[in-house]
Amino acid sequence: MTATTIDGKAFAAQVRGKVAEHVTRLKADHGITPGLAVVLVGEDPASQVYVRSKGKMTVEAGMKSVEHRLDADTSEADLLAVVDQLNNDPEIHGILVQLPLPGHLNEDLVINSINPEKDVDGFHISNVGLLGTGQKSMVPCTPLGCLMMLRAHHGSLSGMDAVVIGRSNIVGKPMAQLLLGDSCTVTIAHSRTKDLADVVQRADIVVAAVGRPEMVPGDWIKPGATVIDVGINRLDAPERGEGKTRLVGDVHYESCAEVAGAITPVPGGVGPMTIACLLANTVTACCRANGLAEPEGLTA
Ligand code: NAD
Repeated sequence: MTATTIDGKAFAAQVRGKVAEHVTRLKADHGITPGLAVVLVGEDPASQVYVRSKGKMTVEAGMKSVEHRLDADTSEADLLAVVDQLNNDPEIHGILVQLPLPGHLNEDLVINSINPEKDVDGFHISNVGLLGTGQKSMVPCTPLGCLMMLRAHHGSLSGMDAVVIGRSNIVGKPMAQLLLGDSCTVTIAHSRTKDLADVVQRADIVVAAVGRPEMVPGDWIKPGATVIDVGINRLDAPERGEGKTRLVGDVHYESCAEVAGAITPVPGGVGPMTIACLLANTVTACCRANGLAEPEGLTA
């Protein structure tokens, strides 16, 4: 069997298109422009790249984009004051504090200082609780993107056996909650799981979010299963020239694609969906803040 490739890049472009359409309607019918604020503390190069592309795509979708760039030695009180100002700004509907924060800042405290209704990353403890109890919440972007692709590919996920490899608060745990919400039978595997191969072999859906390059080989995959590869790992690629690198996922793509029914590539799978879902969450937050109907198909 050769797996169908789930084209996250194309799917993300569709999601961004839906977001842009909704933004146009919000402006035309209600005079409202959704606004997203991103707060970056320090000079982490990867974070700078993410923040730049988030800002660019926010503007491309017709929304207002605000960036707060703070020095690496910013005090907790100053950072909390910026968040407080954004919480109280009626033109800002989504706030994202780019993680990781420098070591002297308490991430939990900062994230939990964001108004949960503006918490477009879905990391605030209230949103975690709402998701865990099946209530309307802001849903973390990466797992939301995975869920959208799974729903688009399968229609209903009800009754499917799903294995999520990884138990982080950002990906693994919310992913498991979302799959449970769609009536999958969910197993969360992690670094202490006994016989991971055996656990993965039972799954109709495998979501790998580990951070270990090409860790999942094809012979762990049940024939016909759907494989969602969240991992982003950069490897040296001397064959491409001196100092060159390439990105790989947590799944060994070639061998898994021979067995799976469908698979997301890296790059071009889950990655582009994450920013698309950030934009979707900002529109959702804006609609909720204004008591308006939420766009269909952009929430969990
Ligand atoms: P994390 O380091 O917080 O969590 C990794 C998880 O993997 C842990 O729960 C750990 O128990 C588990 N794990 C580690 N070794 C294992 C092993 N040998 N067997 C089974 N489980 C093991 O990572 P994270 O933030 O969840 O990110 C995971 C990966 O996803 C990383 O590669 C990250 O770069 C990527 N990521 C991608 C996106 C995206 O937009 N595509 C977003 C977030 C994270």
